[in-house]
Amino acid sequence: MNDRRPMLSLEEALARLAAGAAAHAISETELVSTFDALGRVLAADVHSALDVPPADNTSMDGYALRAADVAAPGAVLPVSQRIPAGHVGQALQPGTAARIFTGGQLPPGADAVVLQEECEAIAGMGMGLGGVRVNAVPVAGQWIRRRGEDVRQGAAVLTRGQRLRPQALGLAASVGAGLLSVRRRPRVALFSTGDELMMPGEPLRPGAIYNSNRFMLRGLLQAAGCEVSDLGIVPDRLDATRAALRQAAAANDLIVTSGGVSAGEEDHLKPAAQAEGQVEDWQIAMKPGKPLAFGHIRHEAGSEALLIGLPGNPVSSFVTCLLAVSTVLRALQGMGSGLPAALPLRAAFDWPRPDRRREFLRVRLNAEGALDLFPNQSSGVLTSTVWADGLVDNPPGQAIARGDAVRFLPLAELISR
Ligand code: AMP
Ligand code: MG
Repeated sequence: MNDRRPMLSLEEALARLAAGAAAHAISETELVSTFDALGRVLAADVHSALDVPPADNTSMDGYALRAADVAAPGAVLPVSQRIPAGHVGQALQPGTAARIFTGGQLPPGADAVVLQEECEAIAGMGMGLGGVRVNAVPVAGQWIRRRGEDVRQGAAVLTRGQRLRPQALGLAASVGAGLLSVRRRPRVALFSTGDELMMPGEPLRPGAIYNSNRFMLRGLLQAAGCEVSDLGIVPDRLDATRAALRQAAAANDLIVTSGGVSAGEEDHLKPAAQAEGQVEDWQIAMKPGKPLAFGHIRHEAGSEALLIGLPGNPVSSFVTCLLAVSTVLRALQGMGSGLPAALPLRAAFDWPRPDRRREFLRVRLNAEGALDLFPNQSSGVLTSTVWADGLVDNPPGQAIARGDAVRFLPLAELISR
C-alpha cells in the first residue's frame, strides 16, 4: 500500500516528539549517593562549597622557598620543616627552605617551589633537617597550584539536566558533594510485534527469524539510563496488541514497540493504539526509518504513557531509537533537545545515487581519518551497525564523491547522550 501523505522532515518530527514528551516530563527527583550516580541526570545544579584546591600547594616534589632568597645558582638554605601531602606547615622564615612533596600545602611566606632534581640535600647543617643547595634560580610562582584555580567557592560546576559521566562524578566529589539530586529514571516498557519472531535458544521454525530488536532496543534503553520492563513478543493480532499496550501503560512513562507500524493488514499497532489512546502515524523523510508512530496510551488510573512505535527492520529500529526515542527520553528528563553536533569529515567513498529522503549511512573511521562506507546499506543488515563507528547524516538528494566533506555523527555519542 502506497502512502501518499506528505512526509514530515526529521527536524519537525523531533520537535513534535520533544514537545509531546516535555508535556509529560518526569518531575520526581531522588537523592542518590555520588558513588551510585553514574549515568543519572542531574535535577539541580551542583555548587561548590569550597575553593578547589582549598589552598596553594605544590605540583612537584622539591623545596618551597622565597624566590628572592636564591639570587644565583648554588645558594644554600637551611631546611626548616618537612611538609608531606595532607600536612600543614608553619610560616616559612626568610632565608630558609621547606622540604615539600606533591600536594603538600605551601607554607605562608613561600612563593616558589624548586624541583628536587635541581637541588642537593646537605647533611649536618641547620635545625636537624639539614640544608639544601639550590642549583637553579626560581621564578616566583613556579610549581604552585593556586587555591581556587580549578573551582571557586560558590561556582556551579555541574548543571541541571546534565548526564553524570565518570568525570562529572569526580568533579562532584572534588567539591565535596556526597549526595546528588537526580531525576527518577524513566520507566520504559518494550515489546516487539511479529508472528515470525523467536527467541535465540529455540530452534528456528520455518518462516521464522530471531528477535534481534528486543535485545538491541533493550540495550539502547538501558544505556540511556532507563528502567526497562520487557514485555516480550506480541503476536500480530489486534486484541493481543491492545492488551500489551494496556499492560505497558500501567506503570510506565513510555512504551517503545518495534514492528507493525506500516499500513499493511498485519500491522496492528496503530489501530490498537487508537483504541487504547491516541496515536499519529508519521512518514518521516529519512532513510532508514520512514514509518513511526507517536502518541499516548490511557491508563485507568487516569495517567497516560507515551507511545513510540518504531519500524521493525532492525537498522531502521536502531537509527530511529537513537534519534527519536532518545529525543523523547531527553525531553522527559528536562535535558536539552537537538542532535549532537555532527563532525565534518571526508568521505572515502562514492555515493552517486542518494535517496530523496535524508539518509543515515553506516560508516567507519579509517586510519587516514576519513570515512569508509559499509557496502550493504539495507535496513535489514544489522552487521552494518556493529561494523560502524557512526552515521553520515546526508541531506536529501545529496550525492557524495570521494573526498567530499560529510556530516559524521559518532555512534558512541548517540548511544550515551
Ligand atoms: P514490520 O515493521 O513489522 O513490517 O517488520 C519489517 C521487517 O522487520 C520484517 O522483515 C520483520 O520480519 C522484521 N522485524 C520486525 N520485528 C523484528 C524484530 N524484533 N527483530 C528482527 N527483525 C524484525
Ligand atoms: Mg511485522
